[in-house]
Amino acid sequence: MTDKYYGPGWDPLISPLLALAERWNVKINDVMTNYGGLRISWQPPDVGYDLEPGQLEQFRTAALAVETLSTLICDQCGQPGRLRDTSPAQTRCDKHAEGPTL
Ligand SMILES: [Zn+2]
Repeated sequence: MTDKYYGPGWDPLISPLLALAERWNVKINDVMTNYGGLRISWQPPDVGYDLEPGQLEQFRTAALAVETLSTLICDQCGQPGRLRDTSPAQTRCDKHAEGPTL
């Protein structure tokens, strides 16, 4: 993972998940935007890094929560936002909106 494809407003959403992934040796393949929200591609740890029972499911839930939150939070400022019908679609607050609300 080198480049960052998402706006600064989502940093507070994704940062804790990335820290958790590092701690648990979960591999983050990619963090991208898709249909105005975050899409996180990840995979379980390699053999040799055993997670506690249930941790994989916990991580899955956490990643989904981040993806869901990203469609409700402005990607520019982190304030509550809505999905906008721009091209590509964006999740923005009223202040940063560039297109009509979906
Ligand atoms: Zn905003």
